[in-house]
Amino acid sequence: MAATPNADAIWTMVEGHGPDLCAMSDEIWETPELNYQETKSVARHKDMLAQKGFRVSENIGGIPTAVMGEAGDGGPVIAILGEYDALPGLSQEAGIAEQKPRNDSGNGHGCGHNLLGSGAMLAAIAVRDFLQSNNLPGRVRYYGCPAEEGGSAKGFMVRAGAFDDVDVAISWHPAPFAGVNNPISLACNELEFHFKGRAAHASSSPELGRSALDAVELMNVGANYMREHMPSTARLHYAVINAGGIAPNVVQANATVRYLIRARELDELIELVERVKKIAQGAALMTETSVEHVVVSGDANLIGNTPLEQLMYRKLEALGPPEFDEADRDFARKIQATLSEKDIRAAYARFGLKPRLDVPLCDTIFPPESGDGRHVGSTDVGTVSWVVPTVQMRGATYAIGTPGHSWQLVAQGKMPAAHKGMVHAAKVMAATASELFADPSLVAAAKADFAERREGRPFINPIPDDVNPPIPGYGEAAE
Ligand SMILES: [Zn+2]
Repeated sequence: MAATPNADAIWTMVEGHGPDLCAMSDEIWETPELNYQETKSVARHKDMLAQKGFRVSENIGGIPTAVMGEAGDGGPVIAILGEYDALPGLSQEAGIAEQKPRNDSGNGHGCGHNLLGSGAMLAAIAVRDFLQSNNLPGRVRYYGCPAEEGGSAKGFMVRAGAFDDVDVAISWHPAPFAGVNNPISLACNELEFHFKGRAAHASSSPELGRSALDAVELMNVGANYMREHMPSTARLHYAVINAGGIAPNVVQANATVRYLIRARELDELIELVERVKKIAQGAALMTETSVEHVVVSGDANLIGNTPLEQLMYRKLEALGPPEFDEADRDFARKIQATLSEKDIRAAYARFGLKPRLDVPLCDTIFPPESGDGRHVGSTDVGTVSWVVPTVQMRGATYAIGTPGHSWQLVAQGKMPAAHKGMVHAAKVMAATASELFADPSLVAAAKADFAERREGRPFINPIPDDVNPPIPGYGEAAE
């Protein structure tokens, strides 16, 4: 077995590039861009990859705002995944503890993806330094993945084979606490149901009309009756995105409802989606309308990997929690003053920790396999985890209790605490990757665990083959 790499050396390498990548994170924060429109953000990421000596591939999976940078030669191939998309309606000034939108696009980095992309790239750059200075074979890649927020870009990238030759994937996400991610997420599918009826004067000839809006309402009633008879861990949400107009005296000829269906396991999800489709057909039958459905996006649930999680946890234990100072805690306390005690307690519960209401910023590492497992969303990293052994870290970058997708989260995105948490996460990811390069038996162990977990579970990408990302001309130009 090869010698364990000197952890201090890799951490010093991370620190060396830290200022450049923190500056990049701040720039990305300044230009918050939505799903598949991340042109400025991806351009900045490309520039940084080139500046740091990576070989840059553009248009990954046919997506113009996806990028990949690679360094090193031969194998194994270890990928570090980043994101940089923002959210609508979350414009917010940085560094203040009151809600104050900026005079800009209206978007905001409410999920901390400015840090996510920059921190992941920071880790990849340090690993490149490590491979060079130790003369080790292997390639490290940074994948700049767009459109995580409801866009499922990684699912399209998986479908295009972007990860086919990757041995291990590593990622992270900003969080209130530092730890190895407990790999629970929900598989999900987003579908639109378009109902078509017949318009008519609602008073003088209602018998001639067939209401698409009625169909939407009946579909929702049906779906709500299904709730009792689905797995208790599944989720169902809908939004009426076209109610058929504003005139009550016109029978609505068109109406659209968007459904987001989530389940613990991919096969459960597929079953639920089929049931929801039947409910839509039933609503159409009842109203003599017609219905068509379109899949918008879909993510698989996360599959864990014990050897990788154990390795990452060892690195995290060796490093310890991030070191915040009194100024960091002061600002975090001001943010906490805008939250409820419930918000703060919920954050602790989610990570399986005892509430400590007087602690504004993470000063500990949460234990592996922690958390109540009930408060989970979905991530497109899930789809990657079905094709490549994958491990994720949570990095502590904001005040404990800050809700996801909130103005408070945006306000903290450029603070020194955010930078410290990002560099801390990059150190753990870089140390994890460098040990995988130094000791190929760990890669083999990760692959064996992956094979065992996948055995007898076919991978069905929740994005059907005929569904494309919302990019004009996608797939037309041959690559
Ligand atoms: Zn996110």
